[in-house]
Amino acid sequence: MTFDNIIGHERQKKLLRQAWNNQRMAHAYLFTGAEGIGKRLMATALVRLIFCEHQTGCGTCAGCRRIDHNNHPDLHILEPEGSFIKIDAIRELQRELQHPPLEAPRRICLIDGADKMNPAAGNALLKTLEEPRHDVMLILISAHPEAVLETIRSRCQQLPFARLDQAMIAKVLKQQEFSNDECRILASLSEGSLKKALGSDREFYLEQRKTLFKAVCTLSPGSIVPMLELAEKWAADKDQLEDLGTVLLSCYRDVFLVVSQGSSSLLANTDLKERIIHQAGRESLPSIQHKLDALLDFQYHLRRNVNRQLAVERLLIQLVQPKAAM
Ligand SMILES: [Zn+2]
Repeated sequence: MTFDNIIGHERQKKLLRQAWNNQRMAHAYLFTGAEGIGKRLMATALVRLIFCEHQTGCGTCAGCRRIDHNNHPDLHILEPEGSFIKIDAIRELQRELQHPPLEAPRRICLIDGADKMNPAAGNALLKTLEEPRHDVMLILISAHPEAVLETIRSRCQQLPFARLDQAMIAKVLKQQEFSNDECRILASLSEGSLKKALGSDREFYLEQRKTLFKAVCTLSPGSIVPMLELAEKWAADKDQLEDLGTVLLSCYRDVFLVVSQGSSSLLANTDLKERIIHQAGRESLPSIQHKLDALLDFQYHLRRNVNRQLAVERLLIQLVQPKAAM
């Protein structure tokens, strides 16, 4: 992985390259931004640049190869074991960091999921940050920097990463031989995360989406039993509920576009065009806005571990309401 292989994040690449060329690397970085947008890749590319025998991140020298095979003696990678990075792991790291690097110009420690350090671990790491060795560099990575101790954050140079834009993701997908429709759908559902667009959610996004939207559209406000059955079925699959919200939100956004603009030229879910137009015919602007709000509420509550079954029931009741009822 080199800087050139990384999609987007040009400003961050430039900044890190300049710092390296001018020998002004910080002793600790904190890369922040959503999951799956390239923070870890950027960190690996930076390590390669620093450890490479040719100082280019060539990919072929012994240093680069050892990084790729995850066995470079001067690269230390810490990740959560279970839910946390614990103090023992930090202490062990600190013992290793006391020794000078073996092969590279410095030791680099990559802490992926820095927000997962519990307070004891975080406080232990502070010592390393407060008394930095000239031959040690830390790269902390976090999608939730607000959960990283303030005292740690303030001792790192923070580098925020933005979500990738849809066009960029669509371009990458196109290189992977997805159809135009699939590229558009996956890019719009990926929330700026390439990992999400290419990951295990893909089948869900492409196929299940059609079934889910159809299931909601064909429910009628009076059909309580089918609605409760559907809610029970959906709530049982805890892991996919969030994706379910994402998918329905995308479909209802398209319905909103048709209702508000009277045109279907900007739809993300082009393969569901007929159903979306049909559904739009049953909505008014206030009713579709109400449904979008209900979907956003649903996502908000899911993240707060509410009763899943109740959350789905409440969502469905709102989604099947006819426009006259609002
Ligand atoms: Zn190299």
